[in-house]
Amino acid sequence: MATPDTDQGGKRATPAPRAPGLPGYNPMSWRRFWLVIGSLLLINIVITTIIEAVTQAPSVTIPYNVFIAQVDAGNVLNITATGDSIVGTTRKAVSAGSGQPSATSFATQRPTFASDGLEASLLKNKVSILAEPPNPPTPLWETLLFSFGPALLFVFGLIYLMRRSAALAGGGAGGILGRFSQSGARLYNPEHPETTFADVAGIDEVKAELVEIVDFLKQPEKYQRLGGTVPKGVLLIGAPGTGKTLLARAVAGEAGVPFFSISASEFIEAIVGVGAARVRDLFQKARGAAPAIVFIDELDAVGRSRSTGARLGGNEEQEQTLNQILTEMDGFDPHEGVIVLAATNRADVLDVALLRPGRFDRRITVPFPDRRGRLEILKIHTRHIPLGADVDLGIIASLTAGMVGADLRNLANEAALAAARREAQTVMQIDFTTALEKVELGSERKLSLSAADRERIAYHESGHALLGLLQPGADPVRRVSIIPRGQSLGVTVQSPVDDRFNYGEDYLRGRITGALGGRAAEQLVYGVVTTGAESDLRQVTAIARQMVVRYGMSPKVGVLSLADDGDNPGQSLTLTRSYSEATAALVDEEVRRICEECLQQAVALLTGNRDKLDALVHALLEHDTLGEAEILAVTGIAAPVETPVAVG
Ligand code: ADP
Ligand code: ZN
Ligand code: MG
Repeated sequence: MATPDTDQGGKRATPAPRAPGLPGYNPMSWRRFWLVIGSLLLINIVITTIIEAVTQAPSVTIPYNVFIAQVDAGNVLNITATGDSIVGTTRKAVSAGSGQPSATSFATQRPTFASDGLEASLLKNKVSILAEPPNPPTPLWETLLFSFGPALLFVFGLIYLMRRSAALAGGGAGGILGRFSQSGARLYNPEHPETTFADVAGIDEVKAELVEIVDFLKQPEKYQRLGGTVPKGVLLIGAPGTGKTLLARAVAGEAGVPFFSISASEFIEAIVGVGAARVRDLFQKARGAAPAIVFIDELDAVGRSRSTGARLGGNEEQEQTLNQILTEMDGFDPHEGVIVLAATNRADVLDVALLRPGRFDRRITVPFPDRRGRLEILKIHTRHIPLGADVDLGIIASLTAGMVGADLRNLANEAALAAARREAQTVMQIDFTTALEKVELGSERKLSLSAADRERIAYHESGHALLGLLQPGADPVRRVSIIPRGQSLGVTVQSPVDDRFNYGEDYLRGRITGALGGRAAEQLVYGVVTTGAESDLRQVTAIARQMVVRYGMSPKVGVLSLADDGDNPGQSLTLTRSYSEATAALVDEEVRRICEECLQQAVALLTGNRDKLDALVHALLEHDTLGEAEILAVTGIAAPVETPVAVG
């Protein structure tokens, strides 16, 4: 595990919580719905405006006396009168007055009291006269638009909604849903993934188990002839991002068979019946296309145990969908050539009905990749990235314990982005370490620190780093930085050469000493310590306590395990005590003794190597961040021999 030691009152970096495949409303579909309604409305308005603009030539409104003058001048060609409103056209453009817009189309209003012999004057000047009834019928398009427009909008919206749910139902649902989807183009389109096993790395055991499935799909006749048993359903179990979906696609890709997939979480908000209908349709289509793969992703979304009562919304839809899946799986013979793959990250909550023989009777756990696996995965995801000469993916693999395939892909991507930000042509090791820090600790923070504060932080981190270097067997120091990130003001990254599963007493004491290095350095240089060492102390206490109560590393307490079952090593122990007050006091005393001894050791080591400490601080103040090679160069310490250590 990379052990970023976050300092100065910071919290330890915890990985961002992964969203479990929790069902929830899908705001997207509603947003889409309103978008459609909105655009229809917009189109409506635009069309109306255009029609209005086209049917009416630009015209000016002129006073009645101007109009009379124009008639008398013989400029008016024709008029249309509607009651006392008059519109018409003129030979030459007219305007209401000088400086006003002019046009050959005009409108005017005749005063009701006018007795001006207009008619005679118009006749005399040969103006053609049209009269219309005072309340002319509105044009047809207008009537249609205003009376049917809203209704049309509504109908369009409704059709859209139905098509959407019908697409989900896959055309299997009866009634109106079925009819709509039959005509719709969004039926099941099986995919033909190009993914192969070459795209999946680091989980070779899992691949090996799936090879048989691929073989069966490639040559079903072989199995049919011999009557061999093939699994109907294979359940892939693993944490999010470990590559379950990827594996399922790779199986289809390797076998060259169509891939029918649904994600069970889609049905959580669906209209009742849609999930079941879709499942039915999915299986029907898959059988028609056999050999084929049906993939049900996030099976736990519908497959939760009915007894746990933990179902969100506790709804009938999930129940129906689950039942349909069970029915379909019971209803076909594996020799038909359809294999059901499903993925879940919560096998423990699955309904037992799913795990019964003849259903998902084969279960494959997709593990977290080990260091080697991470290296292989990194290779895959850096295939298309131009890597600089100094990039050592092996080191990155050892820095990323606990990360899964999806995290590593993200890391490679972040590194490429970091390089782009540097405007570099190739991605260098520094880009990977930058990306790693960003992923683990958060983005850089802009803090304006005083020179004194920076120096103090530099001493603190250098104290950690130097002790990491000076103690034989300690995890190599990969990086020291005094750039504030997330919650921390500085960081010293140490990580083992290989994943460790076992720790010796010396190693644990070394960890404690190293963790106290920050405090020891501050004490040595300034004579006082700051609150910055708080998280260090918490870590120190936790390790020391475990040494005493769990690992039997205190001669006084002896080889007793005082920790209750269920405690995880690595977590700080909250002991529900099952031992006496006297023992408890003894434990406290021993924990204190170990910590004191380690602190003395830390101070002693730093005092004896003050020159190296100062050198490191100066380099750090100048460069903010130092990589492994630079740290070694500055301190003049020889690189530790990197042999995977077996600690017993
Ligand atoms: P899951 O379904 O287990 O949550 P995914 O299959 O969706 O995980 O993984 C997400 C992405 O992470 C994949 O598309 C792939 O790019 C990457 N990935 C995960 N595991 C691996 C792996 N073992 N090898 C290569 N890439 C992986
Ligand atoms: Zn510290
Ligand atoms: Mg997935």
